[in-house]
Amino acid sequence: MFRVAIVGSGPAGVYAVEALTRRGDVAVDVFDRLPSPFGLVRYGVAPDHPKIRSISAALTGVLEHPDVRFLGNVDVGRDISLAELRSYYDAILVASGAAVDRRLGVPGEDLAGSFSATEFVAWYNGHPDAPIDAFTVDARSVAVVGMGNVAVDVVRLLAKTADDLRSTDMPDHVLAVLERSHVTDIHMVGRRGPAHAKFTTRELRELGEIANADVLVDEAELELDPVSEQLLATQPATRRNLDVLRGWATRQPSGRPRRLHLRFWQRPVEVVGDRRVAGLRTEHTQLDEAGNVVGTGHIFTIDAQMVLRSVGYRGLPVPGLPFDERTATVPNDEGRVVGTKGPETGLYVAGWIKRGPTGVIGTNKHDARQTVASMLEDAPNLPPAPVRDPEAVLALLAERGVVAVDWAGWLAIELAEVELGQQRGSARARITQRDALLQAAMRGVIPQTTPAGGDGP
Ligand code: NAP
Repeated sequence: MFRVAIVGSGPAGVYAVEALTRRGDVAVDVFDRLPSPFGLVRYGVAPDHPKIRSISAALTGVLEHPDVRFLGNVDVGRDISLAELRSYYDAILVASGAAVDRRLGVPGEDLAGSFSATEFVAWYNGHPDAPIDAFTVDARSVAVVGMGNVAVDVVRLLAKTADDLRSTDMPDHVLAVLERSHVTDIHMVGRRGPAHAKFTTRELRELGEIANADVLVDEAELELDPVSEQLLATQPATRRNLDVLRGWATRQPSGRPRRLHLRFWQRPVEVVGDRRVAGLRTEHTQLDEAGNVVGTGHIFTIDAQMVLRSVGYRGLPVPGLPFDERTATVPNDEGRVVGTKGPETGLYVAGWIKRGPTGVIGTNKHDARQTVASMLEDAPNLPPAPVRDPEAVLALLAERGVVAVDWAGWLAIELAEVELGQQRGSARARITQRDALLQAAMRGVIPQTTPAGGDGP
């Protein structure tokens, strides 16, 4: 068997497994630093998007292949190095994603009450690294910076009521905070115009379907300059977004308890406040002839006691791999890692660490297949790993006291989450603390049939 280690069990990693196992002579070990698989499908996709979450059922099928082992709770780089992995595997593919947020780079960004959307998403999805008490949501008015799908997710979840979300697997401590939320106004702030927004139409439309909130759009901000006109003429998705926004601009608010203000042409220049956030200062913008955003010098202050910065993710360097600080990706040629002296034998990347944080989940399928094609093309010329015994790497981890969660362990976690959900009347509820996840995994209950509901198989 050709032996491959995959680092990261998010969509890119699992789609790579799928492409590899088609061959029939490849054994794959999938490492994840978390006790659970699926990366952002579990910890990024919003709990009120069960259809997108259900992708995990297909990913489950891939990881249940007899030639695949899941090794959760193993941090490659801390528990075992990439260099060590090379003793056990003929090739290594890193699909570690983009773990942190991009910075706004304005004064006041670190005031209390200013958070990255990454932190908020991790908290409401019960990520084991997110402190339970990270958020209180006692702000009346929240400014969300960015016009991407993550910004739409956080705006939607702030606008909904806890009751709207109770049937999801959202953790109890999050529901309790949302139940006490004081939010009345949510400002979604874009530094460019509506034709440049990154959100997709389906996600945008959902904002208009929230029973608890009115969506407010200023018609004047939807006026199009020649650059935007051009985009509209060539991009059907942009036209659809504009149609939705224009519909809202002409609608009278109906007095619902919460208001979503979609604000275009506002570039953040400062998060203001004395120790705590008191507002977001923005400068009005326009496009110059070359299509670049320029400030007009008109400054506004948006009333806000909480700021959520949703301006994209950023990849982290992977110990042992080259890293391009500018793009926050690993330099590569069709997935082959490229160092200063050319391709690094036997090392590959896929997903966001390869191409940057763009695209929807399905984009990773094509991306991972490209990398696997490069790997399999190289395979006949790769030096075989010296250690061939599949148990040897497990023995090394055990020797170091690393508790690796295998597939049976993950199924036990799923079962425990279903039981937890039943206690409160939802199909499933998240176990959020790492210790509790490990405890559930170690119960070692291997169900004969996999549990239904939530994001499980
Ligand atoms: P994104 O789509 O890249 O959006 C980032 C937003 O931040 C853009 O509006 C960008 O504006 C703005 N921005 C960047 N730097 C800024 C700055 N310094 N000041 C003000 N605004 C700034 O990123 P994302 O929302 O994090 O999403 C990441 C990926 O996940 C995307 O591919 C997204 O589609 C995907 N995703 C999909 C779903 C779904 O399908 N339901 C849900 C969540 C995420 P500019 O355009 O002006 O740069």
